[in-house]
Amino acid sequence: MIDTTGLRQMERSEGNVLTAEAGVPLARLADFACREGLAGLEFAHGIPGTLGGAVCMNAGAYGGEMKQVITSVTALFPEEGIRTLTAEELDFGYRHSLFSDHPDAVVLRAAVALTPGDPEEIRGRMQDFMARRKASQPLEFPSAGSTFKRPVGHFAGTLIDQCGLKGLTVGGAQVSEKHAGFVINRGGATFDDVTELMRQVQQRVYAETGVRLEPEVRIVEA
Ligand SMILES: Cc1cc2nc3c(=O)[nH]c(=O)nc-3n(C[C@H](O)[C@H](O)[C@H](O)COP(=O)(O)OP(=O)(O)OC[C@H]3O[C@@H](n4cnc5c(N)ncnc54)[C@H](O)[C@@H]3O)c2cc1C
Repeated sequence: MIDTTGLRQMERSEGNVLTAEAGVPLARLADFACREGLAGLEFAHGIPGTLGGAVCMNAGAYGGEMKQVITSVTALFPEEGIRTLTAEELDFGYRHSLFSDHPDAVVLRAAVALTPGDPEEIRGRMQDFMARRKASQPLEFPSAGSTFKRPVGHFAGTLIDQCGLKGLTVGGAQVSEKHAGFVINRGGATFDDVTELMRQVQQRVYAETGVRLEPEVRIVEA
């Protein structure tokens, strides 16, 4: 286990480019961009986690994703040492990057290229995204975010809802009543509760719609 939360430096490097270390919270980076009058990271403001995690997952929301703003990433590879990769080398896809296939590599820092914008308008867009998030997501309960990837041509939450699975509960884990795409912890949920609930959801959605749901969350077995 490597803790990157001490890597918290960020700066405006040149022109409209921000460089930040992997442990910088995404919300802080988006705030910094706003104060610098740089647009393009508004989508990232409400995504919990660090820049390193967001690069690895190609995190995205509301039509934006990290792929659109990242220009280079410096990472530590166990065999090769520290390398700087261009955006083209990062193999970004839906919730996927080169780091999804190289779990031993550690993102150290990344550069994002943004566009000049009015800070008040940027702040307004961030607030709008946050309000939409609060209205639609069960942020009042612990969760790992969207449980399943979006299947091609569908939305996972809509399929789960159509199968009548909102509120389905295993132990302390529950398919959120507010947004069926989230498995929430109603209190005391165990690893087994969550994975069993996910299994039941996958089985019932497949039986009723023929669509296979793939986890977006990464399951780490001790
Ligand atoms: C309420 C809620 C809402 C969410 N909404 C969204 C959303 O709208 N869009 C979205 O995309 N995600 C969303 N998520 C999921 C999550 O916030 C993102 O995937 C985020 O990018 C994870 O960042 P993290 O730093 O917490 O990484 P972790 O969850 O700790 O790790 C994620 C992956 O990245 C790897 N990783 C982390 N740091 C590094 C590093 N420095 N170098 C190499 N690999 C690394 C980990 O090994 C792991 O494989 C949401 C989660 C929650 C709880």
